[in-house]
Amino acid sequence: MRFEKKMISQWVTHRCERQLGLSLWTDAEQASPAGHALGIPHRQIRPGFHQMARAGDEWQAEKTADLIAAFGPDSVLGHPSPTIKRDPSGGYKAVSYEPVELDRFLPGAVPGTFLVETEFDPLNPVFEARWRLDWVHTLPLAFRRVRPDAIQVGHSRQFASGITPAGELVDLTEDPRVPLRVIDMKLSSQPGPGYFAEVTYYALALSAWLAHRRLDGQFAVAADAAVWPGSFDVSRVRAHGPSALDHDLELVPIEVFVSEIARFFKEILPRVATTAATPAWSTDLSWHVVPSCAGCDYLGQTFPGVRSGSGAASQPHPNHCVPTAHDTDHLCRLPFLPRGGLTVLARTGIARTAVLAERRASDRCFDEHHSLRAGRSIIPARARALAGGRIGIPGQDATTQCIPKWSDLSLYVTADFDPSSAITFAFGLSGFFFPNPFRAGGGQPEPACAGPRIHGPAA
Ligand code: SF4
Repeated sequence: MRFEKKMISQWVTHRCERQLGLSLWTDAEQASPAGHALGIPHRQIRPGFHQMARAGDEWQAEKTADLIAAFGPDSVLGHPSPTIKRDPSGGYKAVSYEPVELDRFLPGAVPGTFLVETEFDPLNPVFEARWRLDWVHTLPLAFRRVRPDAIQVGHSRQFASGITPAGELVDLTEDPRVPLRVIDMKLSSQPGPGYFAEVTYYALALSAWLAHRRLDGQFAVAADAAVWPGSFDVSRVRAHGPSALDHDLELVPIEVFVSEIARFFKEILPRVATTAATPAWSTDLSWHVVPSCAGCDYLGQTFPGVRSGSGAASQPHPNHCVPTAHDTDHLCRLPFLPRGGLTVLARTGIARTAVLAERRASDRCFDEHHSLRAGRSIIPARARALAGGRIGIPGQDATTQCIPKWSDLSLYVTADFDPSSAITFAFGLSGFFFPNPFRAGGGQPEPACAGPRIHGPAA
C-alpha cells in the first residue's frame, strides 16, 4: 500500500474511510492475488480523466514558463533538459521539467530562485516523531515522495512567519535564514480546502525534512504557502514582473489546516490503513454515497458509450459503491439522507431501505437526529417508493413541486462547467410543452425532450 498527498485532499473533501482505504492500494496490488482475495476493486477510470490530467500538466508548464518569463531562465532551477514551447514571438509559452532530487539544488539555491519539480522523501525520524507515525513501519505502507510544483527561495525577512515541523508558527521578521515557500499549481480556478490541506502537508514535510538534514539553521519554511489557481487571464507576474507574483497566488491559511493534518495522521490514517489491509475493509470502513461522490474512483458508475471490453478500468466492479449499495440495499440509496442520519438508523438496527420502508412516521428511530425528525414522513415513503410502492405525497407535512399540465414552459438543465480547464463533462437536457393540433383532441399540450448531450473536447 502507498500513501500519497491527494489522499489528504480527498479525505478533507469527502471524509470517506472507504475511499481512503481503497486508495491506499496500488493498482499492482489491487490486481495481485492478494488484492483479488480481499475483493479490492480497481480504480475506475472515468471518461475525460486523461484530458483533465493533461490539462493540469499543461497549466503547470504554462505557469513555470511565466516564472521564467518574469524572473529569467537562470532563476528557475530543475531538471537540465526541460521541454520548451515557444510562443510566436519567441517567448516562453510552456516549460515542463522532470522530477529531480531536492538535495541536488537546495544547497546552492540563492534568494530569488525557484526550484521546480524537486522531490524528497517525507518519512524521516523528525516527521515521524512529530506526527506519531511509528505505526507506519508495522504495515506494508509506503509514503510516496513529496514533490511541490515549485519552491520559491525567498530573501531573509521576506515573509513574516514560518512554520516548524510541529506546525507551530514562528516569527521570521528578524530571522536571517533563507525562507522557502511552497507553491502548488492547480488547474482549478477555485481551490478548496482539500488543496489547502495538501499544500499544508507539503510545507510541514519540507520543514521536517530540513530539520532532519540539519539544514534548518540555513533555511526556514515560510507559512505563506500558496496555490497558483487556474485562470484564463494572462498571469500578473508575466504582465507586470516579479513583484506581481503574489497577486497570482492564493495564500493557504496554513494555521487552519495544521489541525486537519494532525488529526489525519494521528487518528484517521492509522485506523483506516490498518483496516484496509484486512478482509473487514468492506464492512468496517464507513461509506455513504452522496452527490459529491461523482468524481470518486470507486463509485462504480456505468458510463454511456463505454462498452464492456472497451477498457476494463472504466467498468464498474461489484465492490464499487453503487453496485454494492444495490446489492445490499444500503440506506444511501435514499436521496437526501445525511451521513449522520444513516449512522443513527444503523444504531437502531436499520441498515436496509426495505426495513426502513416498514417504519411509520411515528417510529422512534426518527427521534434521534434532526434530519430524521424533519423527514420522518418522507424518508420511509421514499424507501417504499424504492421498493416499487406507490409514488405520492406522504401526509400533510411533506411538500412537492409539480409541473403544471400546460404552462408554455421551457425547461433547461445545464452543465456544471469548470472555467479553468475549459473541459465540460456534461450535458444539457431541455424540455418544453406545446400543443399538437394534429392529434385526436388537438390542442392538448405535449411534452418534448431533447436528450442529454455531452460536450467536451472530444465531442
Ligand atoms: S463513491 Fe464510495 S468510496 Fe467514493 S467517496 Fe463515495 S462512498 Fe466513498
